[in-house]
Amino acid sequence: MNRTEDRIFDSPEVTGFVRKTAEHCKSMDKHTALKAGVNLRDMFWLCNAKTPQEAQTRVEFFSRTCLTVEEATDQELQELGYDRSNPPNNHQLIFDDPVSAETLYYHKAKVFVIDTSVYMPWLKSLLQGLKNAATGRPRVTFVQRKVTRLSEFTNANIVVNCSGLGAKEIANDNAMVPIRGQYVRIRAPAIQALHFADHSFICPR
Ligand SMILES: Cc1cc2nc3c(=O)[nH]c(=O)nc-3n(C[C@H](O)[C@H](O)[C@H](O)COP(=O)(O)OP(=O)(O)OC[C@H]3O[C@@H](n4cnc5c(N)ncnc54)[C@H](O)[C@@H]3O)c2cc1C
Repeated sequence: MNRTEDRIFDSPEVTGFVRKTAEHCKSMDKHTALKAGVNLRDMFWLCNAKTPQEAQTRVEFFSRTCLTVEEATDQELQELGYDRSNPPNNHQLIFDDPVSAETLYYHKAKVFVIDTSVYMPWLKSLLQGLKNAATGRPRVTFVQRKVTRLSEFTNANIVVNCSGLGAKEIANDNAMVPIRGQYVRIRAPAIQALHFADHSFICPR
């Protein structure tokens, strides 16, 4: 495996963050999770690997970051319209490497999906609700403005830099590079599970 994202996922730091996020989601009660846009979903994962060892390495990655990962049963595959012994030709469109019945591995997993259009406002209102016990004044203030350099925050004890691609400029982080991708958003209430295959996936919110 030599794709950029595989190298990232191989990093214990990254899998550690993913794991921590899953633990945070797991610790939420049902009512809070609903308000925060956090959903536990089934994921079907189609893996194209040259050898069983390569497939195993990928399963190990998913095991570190998903709640559960197990081989999909024939009945589950049948319900989804997959035929293990006869993969449709269009599967080749998804993968870079040649696809055959021998190279495809089918797994199911339990994963959290966070709808950030719900989660972020929820988190913001949570922080806005925090009050100083003595004065009753808000403990967190939100200020929206453009930052030019991280060194602007000379009075801060801690700076958490969440500027995404902006970090290239404000933190001189040349490791930050954009990755191209396309999204299509459709109305499909019948699809409740994630379908994941290499670079392509379907993700219900
Ligand atoms: C096509 C595509 C598909 C993706 N699919 C998924 C997916 O399915 N699941 C998933 O988990 N992730 C996905 N990601 C990745 C996900 O979008 C990012 O990991 C996530 O948005 C990163 O969040 P962030 O808060 O770190 O950064 P961002 O969402 O990039 O937020 C950074 C914020 O900092 C602000 N900012 C930047 N510079 C400055 C500045 N100088 N001053 C002030 N503000 C500044 C920006 O305006 C922005 O609001 C996808 C990304 C792409 C491009």
